Amino acid sequence: MESKPPIPADEALIQTALADPQRLAALFDTGLLDTPPEEGFDRLTRLAARLTGAPVAFVSLVDADRDFYKSIFDVSGALSSTRELKGRTFCHHALVSKEALILEDVTQLPVFCDVPAAASLGVRAYAGIPLKTEAGEVLGSFCAIDFKPKQWSEQDIEVLVELAHSAMREIRLRKALHQAEALNVQLLAQIKRVDELNRALGELATTDALTGLNNRRSFDHSLQLELAIVERRNTPLSLLMLDVDHFKRINDNFGHEAGDKVLVAIAQMLNGCARVVDVVARVGGEEFAVILPNTDADGAMDVAERMRTAVAQANWLAHPATISIGVATLQMKESASRLYSRADAALYAAKAAGRNRVVMG
Ligand code: GH3
Ligand code: MG
Ligand code: MG
Repeated sequence: MESKPPIPADEALIQTALADPQRLAALFDTGLLDTPPEEGFDRLTRLAARLTGAPVAFVSLVDADRDFYKSIFDVSGALSSTRELKGRTFCHHALVSKEALILEDVTQLPVFCDVPAAASLGVRAYAGIPLKTEAGEVLGSFCAIDFKPKQWSEQDIEVLVELAHSAMREIRLRKALHQAEALNVQLLAQIKRVDELNRALGELATTDALTGLNNRRSFDHSLQLELAIVERRNTPLSLLMLDVDHFKRINDNFGHEAGDKVLVAIAQMLNGCARVVDVVARVGGEEFAVILPNTDADGAMDVAERMRTAVAQANWLAHPATISIGVATLQMKESASRLYSRADAALYAAKAAGRNRVVMG
């Protein structure tokens, strides 16, 4: 291609462009600096060399104090392991001109002949197309070089321009992929957080905050579930209603906080007397209920007595506490509410009979 010798860029302008924070930000943003070679870029440099007949083609990214080579294709093999070059390079000129730099024989051109690569690597011909972002920042160049003078044809330049476009497209795709990956990581973290919150919410919805037992809502749900199981399997089921005796006195004499501690201690004792399949719940202020699956009246009386004794014999120090218990065993076709009422009535009978006792409904 017939061309006039290019005018070299002013050194001060090159220095300013090299250190331009906006340009460097765009460069770091590619995420390509110091990354290993990738086929996506190697394919383009290979093609550039094949189509232009140049022995070397490369993608250079111009950092503040070095040129980093994302891809080098070199038939001679002399440069293929080069990853970066320090000092002035031909690629720096494009930072200022923002245009292609085509040099047929650098030894014949003032300024360009002083570029270290010309002497140290023996570069004679250079064709570099700036890699420009959409915002106009020059990240580096897509280049081909020769070690002898070369007349770059119009077609050579067209090929390099097309491949430079493809390299920019590769850079944008890679960045988009990284952003998508980062978003994916964020999304997964958020999903995990939502899961944790859901679990915590689920626990909050079913757990009594003071004692950690099932709450009333969870108790009602469990009782329905257990009744459905009974219907299918025809197994026995019993229910205990428990109420702390004269609890008001404990509050009045020792304070509400001491009362709370008594409730927590009783909850632990009830749990300690229950099996894993039993559902121990706090259903009111100082009222508890226990669902005993697969348990007949005798079995339920045993559990109730064990619970009553555990509370009565506990080491209460200042404020002894006892509980009264009403027991009901599910009858044929009985509803949950009817079973509950019978156990509750038995509890009141236990209160009426003097408290600290178990009554079967
Ligand atoms: P009874 O033997 O007839 O059951 O007498 P009681 O004093 O236990 O019964 P009552 O229903 O008169 O009083 C229950 C008391 O329990 C009244 C209420 O202030 C107290 N209470 C309810 N919930 C809590 C709680 O979460 N913490 C504390 N400390 N006290 C509570
Ligand atoms: Mg009560
Ligand atoms: Mg009470």
